[in-house]
This record gives sequence, C-alpha cells and structure tokens, in this order.
Amino acid sequence: MGDRIRRTSVYVMGLMISVNLVGCSTAQIHTEEDSEVPQQLSGEKSRIVSDGSQTPAAVDDLDTAIVETRHFYTGPPHLPHPAGDKIAYLTFDDGPSASTRTILRILKNNGAVATFFVIGNETSEGKSLYREIVAEGHALGNHTFSHDYNRIYKTPEAFMRDVRKLDQLLERTVGYRPDILRFPGGSNNHLSWKSGGKGVMSKVAAVVREEGYQYFDWNVSSTDAAAPVQDRDMIIDSVLSASKGKKRIIVLMHDNTYKTTTVEALPVVISKLKAAGFRFDKLQKASFTFQFLEP
Ligand SMILES: [Zn+2]
Repeated sequence: MGDRIRRTSVYVMGLMISVNLVGCSTAQIHTEEDSEVPQQLSGEKSRIVSDGSQTPAAVDDLDTAIVETRHFYTGPPHLPHPAGDKIAYLTFDDGPSASTRTILRILKNNGAVATFFVIGNETSEGKSLYREIVAEGHALGNHTFSHDYNRIYKTPEAFMRDVRKLDQLLERTVGYRPDILRFPGGSNNHLSWKSGGKGVMSKVAAVVREEGYQYFDWNVSSTDAAAPVQDRDMIIDSVLSASKGKKRIIVLMHDNTYKTTTVEALPVVISKLKAAGFRFDKLQKASFTFQFLEP
C-alpha cells in the first residue's frame, strides 16, 4: 500500500512538472501571457519527466519549476513590448552574410529592431557579425548550425545536436545561448520527410519545446526566397499586403549575400509599416508567436 501511494505521488509530481514545462512553452502560442497554465494534460507530454532529474523540492513549488526552465536563457534581459497595438517583428534568416552590416545600418538609421535567426559561421568575420547584431540591440535566434535538411531532420536527436553546436558557438562568441528558434524551412516543411519521414517535424518540435526553446514561423512572407533574387517591389508589396488586418506580424526575410533586393526593399518596408501604424520589436521567448504546426 505504501509503495502504491509513493508511486502515485511520483506520478502526480510528474504531471505537475509537465504542466509547468508544457505551460511555459505552449501557453504563449496564441497569447502574449506566459503565466497561463493549461488545464489539460496529454499522456505524451508527461514523458518530459522521464529522466527523473527533478527533485521533490522543485515539484512542491510551481514557480521553482518555471525558473528552472527559464534558467536556460542567460542573454540580455527580456524587456516589455513597446506600447501601441501593432507590432512588427522583422526576422532575417540564414545569416550572417555579406549583407548583414548593410541590414544593421538600415535598421539603425530607421530606428528598427529585428531578430536574426542565424546559422553556424566559425570564421572571425562570422563571429564579429554575431557580436555586432547583439551590440546593436537585436535578438539572435537559433536556425541550426548546418542548415542541412538531410542531417538535421533525420531524428530529433540529430536536430538537437546541430542546435547545440550553434548554441555553443554563440555562447563562446556573444556570451549566451538563444532560447528562440526557427526551423529551416519552417515547422511544416516537407523537405524534412526525405530524411526523417512524414511525422518528423512534430517529433522535432516536441523535443525543441521540451528543451526550453520557443520556435517561430511567420505570418508575413517577404517572398524573398521565392526567387534567387526576388523583385524589389514584389518584396515590398508582399509584406504590405500580407500585413493588412494584422496586429502582430512576424515578417520572414533573409540575410544572404546574394539577396540584394531584400536589402534594397528594407528601408521602404520599414517606412511603409511605420505609416501603417506598426512599431518594431525583437522576438523573445514569450512574444507573440505564429506556428504552422499545431502543437
Ligand atoms: Zn533558413
């Protein structure tokens, strides 16, 4: 009987931790609150505690468990969102590149902050650019080290190995690991199926959340990936038309040496978004997010 009670309490303990871990990552999907604890649990989510590393002390105090999850992030302090009800999160994927400094200059000259979902670049120039992005007040996000679909989407473990490799490089270079992430190709990409099978993105996304990251897709595409060098006006028009009627926009753009029209479009995009009433902010773990894949 005693043994049964003990087993039951371990199970309840596990559920409580799950509520916290899952709450931290999923409660933010449709809201900007991070204090909400979901009322429902699924059996799958309880396996977060399977390593048994949690102590009873952490379990008794729900706040302690939340702190444990947040402890992962050691970067600049998260600040409140700017006032105003329309916020634009400009995001640049795949850098650093020969375009990064120009993008940084345009952002600075136009008073805008952004988020750079970077990949691995161990050259001294690459490392300088990571530092410059942070020094200019922008957010860094993890976009995997290799960006190699065949490698990263084989298994969730392979994905996390690649993410951690970039985490370590960033920690050595800028002093912290990001807690925000974007999947190469987005969370609903089908290119992953080739190496990992049809259900791989759900598995990878679940592990990413368990590991304390929030991932971000986008609800406004600049379409700058639709052609090797997209037409500048097409980029501007795409952002503007997709932004209509939205109060929070996550804009997908690319920081790539050859995508010169993205850079040319950027000042116009910023000024037109401003004219439409948007203010700019960088993504944080608790920001509004938009995810293609249903969690
Ligand atoms: Zn990418």
